[in-house]
Amino acid sequence: MRLAMVIDTKKCVGCSDCVVACQTENDVPIGYCRDWITETVNGSYPSLELELRSERCNHCDNSPCVRCCPTGASHYGTGGTVLVTKNECIGCGACIESCPYDARYQHPKGYIDKCTFCNHRVKEGLLPACVSVCPTKCMYFGDLDNSHSEVSQLLRNRKYKTLAPEAGTKPQVYYLI
Ligand code: SF4
Ligand code: SF4
Ligand code: SF4
Repeated sequence: MRLAMVIDTKKCVGCSDCVVACQTENDVPIGYCRDWITETVNGSYPSLELELRSERCNHCDNSPCVRCCPTGASHYGTGGTVLVTKNECIGCGACIESCPYDARYQHPKGYIDKCTFCNHRVKEGLLPACVSVCPTKCMYFGDLDNSHSEVSQLLRNRKYKTLAPEAGTKPQVYYLI
């Protein structure tokens, strides 16, 4: 199983419902976030296009954050999801430094936190909170090892990109463009 998220930049309206849902679902402290909205202007004048993206940890297949963690707190979980075991984290911050996407933050309690692909919900057969609340249904979640899954079909049939592919991290959040 290879869990992945596919996000349609053509459908995202930047409403931030995903950000609020994540904060509520995952008890993210005020002033911090596990997901956020990025705006990019593409093209050249006068053909400019605004691209809105809901971003989070990319659950990279080749994660520098897992490699550099001295305690093993950062690790791969089910379906390749990248996770942090709170009580094994010493808060050294090596993983924060190594992530090219700035996807991690230090929780006021000392450990490092980030998107978990809502593994507690996925275990129960639910979708991640951000995916489930999106009013435009621009986010999809599923198993890329299953060729019939919605995420596999979208990546077969649509043009897509990943963020900073040059970093060599093999991100597993894909953006339809
Ligand atoms: Fe690690 Fe950053 Fe990749 Fe997430 S996005 S797996 S924190 S390198
Ligand atoms: Fe590992 Fe925690 Fe250090 Fe990150 S801060 S590298 S998770 S021990
Ligand atoms: Fe937050 Fe869960 Fe969405 Fe990750 S998958 S951004 S933890 S709501």
